[in-house]
Amino acid sequence: MRRFDYFRPKSLKEALELKKTIAGAKFISGGTDLIVQIKNRELKPSALISLRFIPELATIEINGGARIGALVTISDILQHPELGHNYPVLTEAAKSLGSVQIRNVATIGGNLCNCSPCADMALPLLVLEAKVRLQSAKASREVPISKFFKGPGESCLASNEILTDILLNPPHNKAKATFLKKGRVKVDLAIASLALLLEMEGGICRKARIAAGSVAPIPLRLSKVETLLEGAAVSEDLVSKAQHLARETVSPITDVRATEKYRRQIVGVYVKRGLEKILGQSLA
Ligand SMILES: Cc1cc2nc3c(=O)[nH]c(=O)nc-3n(C[C@H](O)[C@H](O)[C@H](O)COP(=O)(O)OP(=O)(O)OC[C@H]3O[C@@H](n4cnc5c(N)ncnc54)[C@H](O)[C@@H]3O)c2cc1C
Repeated sequence: MRRFDYFRPKSLKEALELKKTIAGAKFISGGTDLIVQIKNRELKPSALISLRFIPELATIEINGGARIGALVTISDILQHPELGHNYPVLTEAAKSLGSVQIRNVATIGGNLCNCSPCADMALPLLVLEAKVRLQSAKASREVPISKFFKGPGESCLASNEILTDILLNPPHNKAKATFLKKGRVKVDLAIASLALLLEMEGGICRKARIAAGSVAPIPLRLSKVETLLEGAAVSEDLVSKAQHLARETVSPITDVRATEKYRRQIVGVYVKRGLEKILGQSLA
């Protein structure tokens, strides 16, 4: 590995100042993505600026909705009783991310900022319509998570910004959501994954939010499928149309983990399985 300097700022101001003054520096949180990329020589930063010593980035606040600091680890999410109670889909996804050792250091902010199409935490946040707060030395802005991802490894985060918080709306008492993930083995990145949120009223779907992972250049909202379901009674025929549309909407690639055909197939299966899980009935 190439040599690099390492800094441990104790405030956001200090971290942003360092980033501005050191060309080629990268922020590091848990390092579970970044160190692998440095070892593989995909990245050659001149310096690493650790965000782990900035206390306000590692807190969770329940305030009707929720504010999750970017440095909150995946294990912190699993151990927080109210977060799991209010947003069970978030903990379902967190449980599926890596191993215990990875979850103990991997952060939710790092998972989003790495911008992988397979980022497990992106999907529940997309169906919960979360926002992210981005902070530069001069200003703070809030961006809907659906507008955050731009491509593999790319987001709307500017190089002089830190993702500081994830903001969640208060949970809706009629909404139910679930997360499904297919990997080659238990501890693996997703071949394909799906989060689905439904609000039902008298057999009619009032709201549907669906997001899929590892099947497009970004973690993707399946807006056309959502529109198809909304305002309709969830019948066998509708589910079949939703499965077809989901398979048509995604644009997966073939790689070492799976073929594009298999990934499309899984997305279709997961649309049906997710609906069945939420509605508690077979839609065969
Ligand atoms: C063995 C193994 C298994 C894994 N399994 C999974 C899995 O099942 N599912 C999955 O989704 N991921 C998995 N990962 C990937 C990784 O663990 C997660 O993406 C993790 O959440 C990354 O968080 P981190 O804190 O380690 O990020 P880091 O590696 O520290 O950072 C990742 C990127 O984000 C930037 N960054 C980090 N925090 C911020 C911030 N607050 N503001 C601005 N930029 C920031 C960094 O500069 C870097 O570019 C796995 C990794 C390993 C090594």
